[in-house]
Amino acid sequence: MRTKIHLLFGGKSAEHNVSLQTAKAVMNAVDQSKYDVQPIYIDGKGLWHKGALLEGKVDDAKLLEYKQADESVSPLTLTETENEVVFPLLHGPNGEDGTVQGLLELLNLPYVGNGVLASSAGMDKIAMKAIFAQAGLAQVHYVGFIRKEWEDNKENVVKNIEQTLNYPVFVKPANLGSSVGINKATNREKLIEAITEALQFDRRIIVEEGVTAREIEIGVIGNEEPECSVVGEIVPKTEFYDYQSKYEDGDTALIIPADVSDDIYNSVREMAVKAYKALDCSGLARMDFFLTENNEILINEVNTMPGFTPVSMFPLLWENSGLDYPSLINKLVELAIERHEEKT
Ligand code: ATP
Ligand code: MG
Ligand code: MG
Ligand code: MG
Repeated sequence: MRTKIHLLFGGKSAEHNVSLQTAKAVMNAVDQSKYDVQPIYIDGKGLWHKGALLEGKVDDAKLLEYKQADESVSPLTLTETENEVVFPLLHGPNGEDGTVQGLLELLNLPYVGNGVLASSAGMDKIAMKAIFAQAGLAQVHYVGFIRKEWEDNKENVVKNIEQTLNYPVFVKPANLGSSVGINKATNREKLIEAITEALQFDRRIIVEEGVTAREIEIGVIGNEEPECSVVGEIVPKTEFYDYQSKYEDGDTALIIPADVSDDIYNSVREMAVKAYKALDCSGLARMDFFLTENNEILINEVNTMPGFTPVSMFPLLWENSGLDYPSLINKLVELAIERHEEKT
Protein backbone atom coordinates (compact mmCIF):
# COMPACT_ATOMS: atom_id res chain seq x y z
CA MET A 1 0.00 0.00 0.00
CA ARG A 2 1.25 3.47 -0.85
CA THR A 3 2.10 5.87 1.93
CA LYS A 4 0.64 9.35 1.98
CA ILE A 5 2.81 12.22 3.14
CA HIS A 6 0.97 15.24 4.48
CA LEU A 7 3.33 18.15 3.88
CA LEU A 8 2.63 20.99 6.27
CA PHE A 9 4.14 24.30 5.22
CA GLY A 10 3.83 28.05 5.74
CA GLY A 11 2.80 28.58 9.33
CA LYS A 12 2.10 31.39 11.72
CA SER A 13 5.69 32.31 12.58
CA ALA A 14 8.07 34.97 11.26
CA GLU A 15 9.78 32.15 9.32
CA HIS A 16 6.71 31.61 7.10
CA ASN A 17 8.48 32.49 3.84
CA VAL A 18 11.45 30.28 4.63
CA SER A 19 9.04 27.39 4.96
CA LEU A 20 7.57 28.07 1.50
CA GLN A 21 10.99 27.75 -0.13
CA THR A 22 11.57 24.51 1.71
CA ALA A 23 8.18 23.07 0.81
CA LYS A 24 8.71 23.62 -2.89
CA ALA A 25 12.07 21.87 -2.79
CA VAL A 26 10.79 18.90 -0.79
CA MET A 27 7.69 18.49 -3.00
CA ASN A 28 9.95 18.31 -6.03
CA ALA A 29 12.30 15.80 -4.46
CA VAL A 30 9.83 13.34 -2.93
CA ASP A 31 9.78 9.96 -4.66
CA GLN A 32 6.29 10.09 -6.18
CA SER A 33 6.48 6.48 -7.30
CA LYS A 34 6.46 5.55 -3.64
CA TYR A 35 4.55 8.32 -1.89
CA ASP A 36 1.38 10.34 -2.46
CA VAL A 37 1.92 13.90 -1.38
CA GLN A 38 -0.83 15.96 0.20
CA PRO A 39 0.21 19.63 0.49
CA ILE A 40 -1.32 21.50 3.40
CA TYR A 41 -0.66 25.21 3.53
CA ILE A 42 -0.93 26.94 6.90
CA ASP A 43 -1.60 30.64 6.48
CA GLY A 44 -0.38 33.55 8.58
CA LYS A 45 -3.46 33.33 10.77
CA GLY A 46 -2.83 29.66 11.44
CA LEU A 47 -5.66 28.33 9.23
CA TRP A 48 -5.01 25.06 7.36
CA HIS A 49 -5.70 24.88 3.60
CA LYS A 50 -5.64 21.56 1.85
CA GLY A 51 -4.55 21.63 -1.78
CA ALA A 52 -4.99 19.02 -4.50
CA LEU A 53 -2.74 15.96 -4.33
CA LEU A 54 0.64 16.66 -5.81
CA GLU A 55 1.14 15.59 -9.40
CA GLY A 56 4.51 16.10 -11.00
CA LYS A 57 6.65 19.09 -10.22
CA VAL A 58 5.70 22.24 -8.37
CA ASP A 59 6.61 25.75 -9.50
CA ASP A 60 5.89 29.09 -7.86
CA ALA A 61 2.52 29.38 -9.64
CA LYS A 62 1.41 26.01 -8.33
CA LEU A 63 2.60 26.93 -4.85
CA LEU A 64 0.51 30.07 -5.08
CA GLU A 65 -2.54 27.94 -5.93
CA TYR A 66 -2.05 26.02 -2.71
CA LYS A 67 -1.75 29.33 -0.90
CA GLN A 68 -4.93 30.65 -2.43
CA ALA A 69 -7.13 27.65 -1.68
CA ASP A 70 -9.66 29.64 0.28
CA GLU A 71 -11.47 26.91 2.12
CA SER A 72 -9.80 26.00 5.37
CA VAL A 73 -10.00 22.63 7.08
CA SER A 74 -9.74 21.60 10.71
CA PRO A 75 -6.33 20.17 11.66
CA LEU A 76 -8.27 17.40 13.37
CA THR A 77 -9.40 16.02 9.99
CA LEU A 78 -5.88 15.04 9.00
CA THR A 79 -6.27 11.28 9.38
CA GLU A 80 -7.72 9.68 6.27
CA THR A 81 -6.17 6.33 5.54
CA GLU A 82 -4.01 3.73 7.20
CA ASN A 83 -0.63 4.60 5.78
CA GLU A 84 0.13 8.17 6.55
CA VAL A 85 3.05 10.27 7.66
CA VAL A 86 3.07 13.98 8.41
CA PHE A 87 6.06 16.08 7.41
CA PRO A 88 5.87 19.39 9.29
CA LEU A 89 8.11 21.65 7.22
CA LEU A 90 7.56 24.47 9.65
CA HIS A 91 10.09 26.67 11.37
CA GLY A 92 9.73 28.70 14.54
CA PRO A 93 6.80 29.04 16.96
CA ASN A 94 3.61 27.08 16.13
CA GLY A 95 5.53 24.57 14.07
CA GLU A 96 9.01 23.76 15.29
CA ASP A 97 8.12 24.23 18.94
CA GLY A 98 6.09 21.17 19.94
CA THR A 99 2.62 22.57 19.30
CA VAL A 100 2.03 20.80 15.98
CA GLN A 101 3.89 17.77 17.34
CA GLY A 102 1.47 17.59 20.28
CA LEU A 103 -1.48 17.68 17.90
CA LEU A 104 0.01 14.85 15.85
CA GLU A 105 0.61 12.80 19.00
CA LEU A 106 -3.06 13.19 19.89
CA LEU A 107 -4.04 12.15 16.37
CA ASN A 108 -1.74 9.13 16.72
CA LEU A 109 -0.01 9.93 13.44
CA PRO A 110 3.66 9.31 12.66
CA TYR A 111 5.49 12.52 11.85
CA VAL A 112 8.91 13.52 10.65
CA GLY A 113 11.27 15.14 13.11
CA ASN A 114 11.38 15.78 16.79
CA GLY A 115 8.73 15.03 19.38
CA VAL A 116 7.10 17.43 21.81
CA LEU A 117 9.86 17.74 24.40
CA ALA A 118 12.80 18.23 22.04
CA SER A 119 10.80 20.61 19.85
CA SER A 120 9.66 22.86 22.68
CA ALA A 121 12.90 22.79 24.66
CA GLY A 122 14.89 23.33 21.47
CA MET A 123 12.79 26.30 20.44
CA ASP A 124 13.22 28.25 23.66
CA LYS A 125 16.85 29.30 23.89
CA ILE A 126 16.59 29.88 27.67
CA ALA A 127 15.22 26.38 28.37
CA MET A 128 17.64 24.87 25.86
CA LYS A 129 20.67 26.44 27.49
CA ALA A 130 19.55 25.32 30.95
CA ILE A 131 19.38 21.74 29.66
CA PHE A 132 22.76 22.05 27.92
CA ALA A 133 24.30 23.39 31.15
CA GLN A 134 22.86 20.45 33.07
CA ALA A 135 24.41 18.08 30.52
CA GLY A 136 27.81 19.70 31.08
CA LEU A 137 28.06 21.25 27.62
CA ALA A 138 30.23 24.36 27.32
CA GLN A 139 28.41 27.46 26.07
CA VAL A 140 28.50 31.28 26.23
CA HIS A 141 27.37 33.17 29.33
CA TYR A 142 23.83 34.44 29.07
CA VAL A 143 20.98 36.18 30.87
CA GLY A 144 17.29 35.43 30.29
CA PHE A 145 14.31 37.55 31.28
CA ILE A 146 10.66 38.21 30.43
CA ARG A 147 8.89 41.33 29.16
CA LYS A 148 7.26 42.04 32.54
CA GLU A 149 10.67 42.23 34.28
CA TRP A 150 11.82 44.68 31.61
CA GLU A 151 8.73 46.85 31.84
CA ASP A 152 8.81 46.88 35.65
CA ASN A 153 12.47 47.77 36.06
CA LYS A 154 14.65 48.34 33.01
CA GLU A 155 17.59 49.67 35.08
CA ASN A 156 17.69 46.47 37.06
CA VAL A 157 17.67 44.24 33.99
CA VAL A 158 20.44 46.29 32.35
CA LYS A 159 22.47 46.21 35.57
CA ASN A 160 22.14 42.44 35.79
CA ILE A 161 23.21 42.02 32.16
CA GLU A 162 26.21 44.31 32.54
CA GLN A 163 27.29 42.58 35.74
CA THR A 164 27.09 39.13 34.16
CA LEU A 165 28.27 39.75 30.58
CA ASN A 166 30.89 41.76 28.71
CA TYR A 167 30.06 43.73 25.56
CA PRO A 168 29.48 42.98 22.76
CA VAL A 169 26.36 40.99 23.50
CA PHE A 170 23.76 39.34 21.26
CA VAL A 171 20.13 40.06 22.07
CA LYS A 172 17.64 37.46 20.83
CA PRO A 173 13.95 36.66 21.09
CA ALA A 174 14.12 33.34 23.01
CA ASN A 175 11.72 31.57 20.62
CA LEU A 176 12.62 32.20 17.01
CA GLY A 177 15.07 31.34 14.26
CA SER A 178 16.58 32.58 11.01
CA SER A 179 18.18 35.37 13.06
CA VAL A 180 14.85 37.24 13.08
CA GLY A 181 14.91 39.93 15.79
CA ILE A 182 18.57 39.29 16.70
CA ASN A 183 20.95 42.21 17.15
CA LYS A 184 24.49 42.70 18.33
CA ALA A 185 24.95 45.45 20.92
CA THR A 186 28.27 47.08 21.73
CA ASN A 187 27.08 49.48 24.42
CA ARG A 188 24.19 50.24 26.79
CA GLU A 189 22.27 52.41 24.35
CA LYS A 190 22.38 49.74 21.66
CA LEU A 191 21.50 47.09 24.22
CA ILE A 192 18.29 48.91 25.12
CA GLU A 193 17.43 49.36 21.43
CA ALA A 194 18.07 45.68 20.74
CA ILE A 195 15.92 44.54 23.67
CA THR A 196 13.09 46.80 22.49
CA GLU A 197 13.26 45.20 19.05
CA ALA A 198 13.49 41.62 20.33
CA LEU A 199 10.43 42.23 22.52
CA GLN A 200 8.39 42.80 19.36
CA PHE A 201 8.85 39.11 18.58
CA ASP A 202 8.71 37.42 21.96
CA ARG A 203 7.94 37.97 25.62
CA ARG A 204 11.04 35.94 26.56
CA ILE A 205 14.45 37.43 25.78
CA ILE A 206 17.95 36.03 25.96
CA VAL A 207 21.10 38.14 26.00
CA GLU A 208 24.36 36.32 25.34
CA GLU A 209 27.98 37.32 25.59
CA GLY A 210 29.36 37.68 22.09
CA VAL A 211 32.33 35.54 21.14
CA THR A 212 34.82 35.92 18.31
CA ALA A 213 34.72 32.49 16.82
CA ARG A 214 34.35 30.35 13.74
CA GLU A 215 30.83 29.01 13.23
CA ILE A 216 30.70 25.27 12.88
CA GLU A 217 27.54 23.25 12.24
CA ILE A 218 26.80 19.54 12.18
CA GLY A 219 23.80 17.48 11.12
CA VAL A 220 22.43 14.68 13.28
CA ILE A 221 19.82 12.12 12.24
CA GLY A 222 18.36 9.10 13.98
CA ASN A 223 16.18 8.08 16.86
CA GLU A 224 17.75 5.94 19.59
CA GLU A 225 21.11 5.78 17.76
CA PRO A 226 21.91 9.22 16.35
CA GLU A 227 24.41 9.55 13.52
CA CYS A 228 26.47 12.64 12.67
CA SER A 229 27.29 14.19 9.31
CA VAL A 230 30.58 15.84 8.45
CA VAL A 231 30.97 19.34 9.90
CA GLY A 232 30.42 22.53 7.95
CA GLU A 233 31.52 26.09 8.49
CA ILE A 234 29.64 29.31 7.85
CA VAL A 235 31.56 32.37 6.78
CA PRO A 236 29.14 35.30 6.66
CA LYS A 237 30.18 38.41 4.72
CA THR A 238 28.19 40.57 7.12
CA GLU A 239 29.02 41.27 10.75
CA PHE A 240 27.18 38.14 11.81
CA TYR A 241 24.97 35.51 10.18
CA ASP A 242 21.80 37.63 10.09
CA TYR A 243 18.50 37.11 8.22
CA GLN A 244 19.69 38.94 5.13
CA SER A 245 22.84 36.91 4.77
CA LYS A 246 20.83 33.72 5.27
CA TYR A 247 18.13 34.32 2.68
CA GLU A 248 18.65 37.48 0.67
CA ASP A 249 22.29 38.11 -0.23
CA GLY A 250 23.24 34.50 -0.68
CA ASP A 251 26.94 35.32 -0.60
CA THR A 252 27.62 33.62 2.71
CA ALA A 253 30.17 30.89 2.15
CA LEU A 254 29.28 27.41 3.37
CA ILE A 255 32.44 25.33 3.61
CA ILE A 256 31.78 21.60 3.67
CA PRO A 257 33.58 19.77 5.09
CA ALA A 258 35.00 22.45 7.38
CA ASP A 259 38.76 22.60 7.71
CA VAL A 260 39.14 21.44 11.31
CA SER A 261 41.44 18.90 12.95
CA ASP A 262 40.25 15.36 13.67
CA ASP A 263 40.30 16.21 17.38
CA ILE A 264 37.95 19.14 16.88
CA TYR A 265 35.71 17.11 14.56
CA ASN A 266 35.46 14.30 17.10
CA SER A 267 34.71 16.68 19.96
CA VAL A 268 31.99 18.42 17.95
CA ARG A 269 30.41 15.04 17.14
CA GLU A 270 30.57 13.98 20.77
CA MET A 271 29.01 17.23 21.99
CA ALA A 272 26.33 17.10 19.29
CA VAL A 273 25.27 13.58 20.29
CA LYS A 274 25.27 14.57 23.96
CA ALA A 275 23.07 17.58 23.19
CA TYR A 276 20.80 15.44 20.99
CA LYS A 277 20.29 12.98 23.83
CA ALA A 278 19.96 15.67 26.51
CA LEU A 279 16.99 17.17 24.64
CA ASP A 280 15.64 13.73 23.66
CA CYS A 281 15.82 14.61 19.97
CA SER A 282 14.61 12.22 17.29
CA GLY A 283 14.49 12.35 13.51
CA LEU A 284 16.88 15.18 12.85
CA ALA A 285 18.61 18.23 14.24
CA ARG A 286 21.26 20.69 13.23
CA MET A 287 23.60 21.67 16.04
CA ASP A 288 25.39 25.02 15.82
CA PHE A 289 28.75 25.56 17.51
CA PHE A 290 31.32 28.28 18.05
CA LEU A 291 34.99 27.41 17.71
CA THR A 292 37.01 30.11 19.49
CA GLU A 293 40.56 31.26 18.77
CA ASN A 294 41.75 29.06 21.69
CA ASN A 295 40.10 26.03 20.07
CA GLU A 296 37.38 26.03 22.69
CA ILE A 297 34.15 24.49 21.40
CA LEU A 298 30.93 26.08 22.64
CA ILE A 299 27.49 24.87 21.70
CA ASN A 300 25.34 27.73 20.39
CA GLU A 301 22.01 26.11 19.69
CA VAL A 302 19.99 23.27 18.24
CA ASN A 303 17.53 23.59 15.36
CA THR A 304 14.93 20.85 15.45
CA MET A 305 13.67 21.71 11.96
CA PRO A 306 16.71 23.22 10.30
CA GLY A 307 16.66 25.05 6.98
CA PHE A 308 15.91 22.31 4.51
CA THR A 309 16.17 23.55 0.93
CA PRO A 310 18.72 21.66 -1.22
CA VAL A 311 21.16 24.55 -0.73
CA SER A 312 20.68 24.75 3.04
CA MET A 313 23.44 23.66 5.37
CA PHE A 314 21.69 20.56 6.76
CA PRO A 315 20.98 18.77 3.44
CA LEU A 316 24.41 19.79 2.11
CA LEU A 317 26.11 18.31 5.18
CA TRP A 318 24.34 15.02 4.51
CA GLU A 319 25.03 15.10 0.80
CA ASN A 320 28.70 15.39 1.67
CA SER A 321 28.28 12.45 4.03
CA GLY A 322 26.87 10.24 1.28
CA LEU A 323 23.13 10.85 1.65
CA ASP A 324 21.64 12.91 -1.18
CA TYR A 325 18.51 15.09 -0.82
CA PRO A 326 15.87 12.55 -1.97
CA SER A 327 17.52 9.81 0.13
CA LEU A 328 17.59 12.11 3.14
CA ILE A 329 13.84 12.72 2.78
CA ASN A 330 13.22 8.98 2.50
CA LYS A 331 15.35 8.31 5.55
CA LEU A 332 13.46 10.90 7.63
CA VAL A 333 10.11 9.41 6.64
CA GLU A 334 11.38 5.95 7.61
CA LEU A 335 12.62 7.25 10.97
CA ALA A 336 9.19 8.79 11.61
CA ILE A 337 7.45 5.47 10.97
CA GLU A 338 10.02 3.56 13.02
CA ARG A 339 9.56 5.83 16.04
CA HIS A 340 5.78 5.57 15.77
CA GLU A 341 5.91 1.77 15.63
CA GLU A 342 8.23 1.58 18.64
CA LYS A 343 5.80 3.68 20.63
CA THR A 344 2.66 1.74 19.79
P1 ATP B 1 18.93 29.71 13.00
O1 ATP B 1 17.85 29.01 13.71
O2 ATP B 1 18.54 30.22 11.63
O3 ATP B 1 20.25 28.99 12.96
P2 ATP B 1 18.75 31.65 15.18
O4 ATP B 1 17.78 32.73 14.85
O5 ATP B 1 18.32 30.57 16.09
O6 ATP B 1 19.30 31.06 13.82
P3 ATP B 1 21.42 31.95 16.35
O7 ATP B 1 21.96 30.81 15.61
O8 ATP B 1 21.35 31.85 17.83
O9 ATP B 1 20.01 32.41 15.77
O10 ATP B 1 22.26 33.26 16.00
C1 ATP B 1 22.33 33.74 14.68
C2 ATP B 1 23.74 34.18 14.33
O11 ATP B 1 24.14 35.28 15.18
C3 ATP B 1 24.80 33.13 14.56
O12 ATP B 1 24.89 32.25 13.46
C4 ATP B 1 26.03 34.02 14.73
O13 ATP B 1 26.48 34.52 13.48
C5 ATP B 1 25.51 35.17 15.53
N1 ATP B 1 25.59 34.93 16.99
C6 ATP B 1 24.58 34.52 17.78
N2 ATP B 1 24.96 34.43 19.07
C7 ATP B 1 26.25 34.79 19.11
C8 ATP B 1 27.20 34.91 20.18
N3 ATP B 1 26.89 34.66 21.45
N4 ATP B 1 28.46 35.33 19.84
C9 ATP B 1 28.79 35.60 18.56
N5 ATP B 1 27.93 35.50 17.51
C10 ATP B 1 26.67 35.13 17.78
MG1 MG C 1 18.06 28.56 15.68
MG1 MG D 1 16.10 27.76 13.33
MG1 MG E 1 21.74 29.23 14.41
